[in-house]
Amino acid sequence: MELLEDFRAVREELRAFAEREIAPHASRIDREERIPGEVIAALREARVFASGFPEAYGGSIGADPVADAVRHGLMHEALGSASASVQGLVNVHHMGGSPIVRWGTREQKERWLPSLTSGAMMAAIAITEPNVGSQAGAVEARATRDGPDYVVSGTKCWITCGQSADLFVLITGSDDGPTAFILPRDTPGLTIEPIHGLLGCRGYMLAKLHLDRCRLPGDQLLGKPGFGVSHIAAAGLDAGRHNLAWGCVGLAQACLDGSVAYARKRRQFNAPISDFQLVQQMITGMATDIHAARLMCWHAGIMRAKRDPSAVKEGAMAKYNASKMVNRVANDAVQIHGANGCGPDYPVERHYRDARIMEIIEGTSQILEGVIARYVYQEAAQ
Ligand SMILES: Cc1cc2nc3c(=O)[nH]c(=O)nc-3n(C[C@H](O)[C@H](O)[C@H](O)COP(=O)(O)OP(=O)(O)OC[C@H]3O[C@@H](n4cnc5c(N)ncnc54)[C@H](O)[C@@H]3O)c2cc1C
Repeated sequence: MELLEDFRAVREELRAFAEREIAPHASRIDREERIPGEVIAALREARVFASGFPEAYGGSIGADPVADAVRHGLMHEALGSASASVQGLVNVHHMGGSPIVRWGTREQKERWLPSLTSGAMMAAIAITEPNVGSQAGAVEARATRDGPDYVVSGTKCWITCGQSADLFVLITGSDDGPTAFILPRDTPGLTIEPIHGLLGCRGYMLAKLHLDRCRLPGDQLLGKPGFGVSHIAAAGLDAGRHNLAWGCVGLAQACLDGSVAYARKRRQFNAPISDFQLVQQMITGMATDIHAARLMCWHAGIMRAKRDPSAVKEGAMAKYNASKMVNRVANDAVQIHGANGCGPDYPVERHYRDARIMEIIEGTSQILEGVIARYVYQEAAQ
């Protein structure tokens, strides 16, 4: 844990920012199902949207990519502690931008990345459809060549920040297989239908995207035709799994912090409930679970920064573990709060609902069980 000590000051600074600028809005974000402009302005001002992008395009990754990756992870932890919805916004921005960094042409990088890193434009990623979830390669939206352009029709759903993003990395089908495009929000033929009433992460500002013969110039093709899932979506999901794993650690830490404070204050049987061993058992389980998940995130982030071939597996494992962990922790947090854990006066009720989303997005737990097992079998065969 020496490294953790080295980053103590960075962690404190990020936590202070999130507590000051985001946490006071978290309950309202959940209630109103939107992230207010002043929160987005504060994120922009703090250069949060630059995190995880290369310095050459205005991002934060410079001469010491490992230190930058650790800072990036701690930032997602701090955001996740303050508001899972805000962490989601920053996450999908990075998920949308990462495939452009990895697979974009130089012209595409120069055209789009500076606006993303400055926060002037917000990105999102559109893979899922009404009939297509985990099996991303089966997308039914269709891109057809028409001279130098592509014409795209279809429907995307459950798109985080679909209501607000300025550009989408869009995965469609084509004669060459799944193919990706950069889809600006103002493209004629694109209409956006908000989705409301989500269980948790209610500030994700989800939407359906309806594409009706959207004409996309060839220079908005991202990567090669046929790369849509294997390369483009994969680059977004790899970034997203790392970010989300850290976000889960932050959300779980918020559950633990709230539970410790509550258990010390709440008295039953003439003693604070923190004195009871069965409550201590829950606190111990939560703290140990969080600590283990944080170490996995830490390790996965360093592997990613070093471009280690194991980084994709490590990211999938970190997300799989952290998303299950945060559900256990949020469950115990509600238990420790008793009736107050079910009501509107304590944030653990929201944390519990937010935690449930984490095992669905960026690959469900079952899909990740398949992904991770395949890596394990491959390693065993070597
Ligand atoms: C809050 C939220 C935000 C989201 N944001 C985005 C976004 O920004 N962009 C985007 O493109 N999508 C987004 N999604 C969609 C998300 O990625 C999908 O929900 C996810 O991929 C699962 O797809 P599905 O919901 O259609 O479930 P399905 O794929 O229909 O799965 C249903 C159940 O079957 C299981 N299952 C499916 N296949 C297998 C298998 N082979 N083996 C074992 N079990 C299996 C699943 O694990 C799950 O339990 C979001 C979803 C939510 C809820």
